[in-house]
Amino acid sequence: MTAEHLDVLIVGAGLSGIGAAYYIQTQCPTKRYAILEGRDTIGGTWDLFRYPGVRSDSDMYTLGFSFRPWRDAKAIADGPSILSYIRETAAAYGIDRNVRFGHRVRRAEWSSADARWTVEAVRESGEVVRLTCSFLYMCSGYYDYEGGYTPEWRGVEQFAGQIVHPQQWPEDLDYAGKRVVVIGSGATAVTLVPAMAEQAANVTMLQRSPTYVVAQPAKDPAADWLRARLPERLAHGLVRWKNVLMGMYFYTLMRRQPALAKRNLLKLVRAELGPDFDVETHFTPRYNPWDQRLCLAPDGDLFAAIKAGKAAVVTDQIDTFTPGGIRLRSGAELPADVVVTATGLVMRLMSGVQLAVDGRPVDLAQTMSYKGTMFSDVPNLAAAIGYTQASWTLKCELIARYVTRLLNYMDRRGFVQCTPRKTDPSVAEEPVINLTSGYIQRALSTLPKQGSRRPWKLYQNYILDTLTYRLGKVDDGTMEFKRRGERPAPRAGVSPGSAAHQP
Ligand SMILES: Cc1cc2nc3c(=O)[nH]c(=O)nc-3n(C[C@H](O)[C@H](O)[C@H](O)COP(=O)(O)OP(=O)(O)OC[C@H]3O[C@@H](n4cnc5c(N)ncnc54)[C@H](O)[C@@H]3O)c2cc1C
Repeated sequence: MTAEHLDVLIVGAGLSGIGAAYYIQTQCPTKRYAILEGRDTIGGTWDLFRYPGVRSDSDMYTLGFSFRPWRDAKAIADGPSILSYIRETAAAYGIDRNVRFGHRVRRAEWSSADARWTVEAVRESGEVVRLTCSFLYMCSGYYDYEGGYTPEWRGVEQFAGQIVHPQQWPEDLDYAGKRVVVIGSGATAVTLVPAMAEQAANVTMLQRSPTYVVAQPAKDPAADWLRARLPERLAHGLVRWKNVLMGMYFYTLMRRQPALAKRNLLKLVRAELGPDFDVETHFTPRYNPWDQRLCLAPDGDLFAAIKAGKAAVVTDQIDTFTPGGIRLRSGAELPADVVVTATGLVMRLMSGVQLAVDGRPVDLAQTMSYKGTMFSDVPNLAAAIGYTQASWTLKCELIARYVTRLLNYMDRRGFVQCTPRKTDPSVAEEPVINLTSGYIQRALSTLPKQGSRRPWKLYQNYILDTLTYRLGKVDDGTMEFKRRGERPAPRAGVSPGSAAHQP
């Protein structure tokens, strides 16, 4: 039986997959597409994560879509509101009808002779489904859905209490009146501590080293003012641009003047916690602002919990778990009934889908990222990989617009294959992400590289990227285009040494 063929196959029905589908159906209306989703529901991250207080740490005017105004009162939104927003968007544009649930993609093989991918997905029953597509669009997020990262600690087996990871939050976990230790200092820990402090007897955030934490109002008064006076879409667009520009301004300032930025950030923490709190030990990171993502405390909730005596921060290292809690290297003991390991995600680009091009496996680590979305020598495949220093969706939408431009360009000229080719030997390899966060450093050897120059370099700059993706030449001399029956592409991961097609 011949496999069903689609023009575009999107993998993943989270924020980026729903956004990708919107652009495919509006900009390429004749294309037949489907979304394969491994889970039974739309929403990805915002459905998976169920821990107390789960929320965004960027504003929803930029984390939400440009084409779908954010209507909630809070700009820093809780997980359930974000999930509803994604589902409502999918329903409003009829995207939900194109999602095939319970299809976990595990392999995709490109054939240059047929100019198509054969994609293999497994259903929960074990049934294997094969589809073919002309373009594969990976919107599968950036981390492993199977489980988060937990370091190995001594004595864990003797701990009499409960240990939970935020990625697998037990629905019935009752921590009311209990002593809770949250291990970690990233966004998840900073979210969990004040949220759990509302019911727990006490919550201790146990961190090996501090992170920058910035208090920010959960509501955006300027946004509310504009929304009350202007048509919804106009207000949404203006607030989105305001937040983009403010984000870029502060990011640039902090990167250019790290010492000043550090002083100011710490001054703000001191103002929140008062002169007696040891900010030096607990809130002064060893790195510069934006070497890792800053953590947000909406309305200063973490600081308020600390000031109220409901939460505490301990900066130390775990020596061993004991039956009653955790013994620290300093010799201190932290009694605990519940330990939450907010120790991070396992980064997994393209969710570990095995790719092959003309019979040869693709090792992503040997490829170079092209325009932050495609990969050298891998034809007709884009991945929605968002920003690390701004809202994920800002970049994913730019990528979606670029993909639709690319598809329309190919249709107009009769091309069936597009492959980024690294033919310029003077382009040097660089790490693809410049953050020092643990989950990125652990995964760096599995990730593609970026190049020292466009179109192989990522700028993490929304304005530059807008120009590149929306106005830059599609046929940029690096992308090789082929018509049906033209010579097959050389093997994946290896530079072919042939010039790009110049129509
Ligand atoms: C707790 C948390 C808070 C965050 N907050 C922010 C924030 O405030 N701002 C920000 O910019 N970013 C934030 N992020 C990053 C966040 O993941 C993205 O913003 C965004 O939700 C990612 O959307 P996505 O659709 O690309 O990926 P995901 O939400 O991960 O969705 C991917 C989808 O693909 C499916 N999938 C994966 N692999 C396969 C496969 N092989 N076959 C079929 N289906 C598959 C998954 O089941 C899932 O539904 C946060 C992340 C977490 C974990």
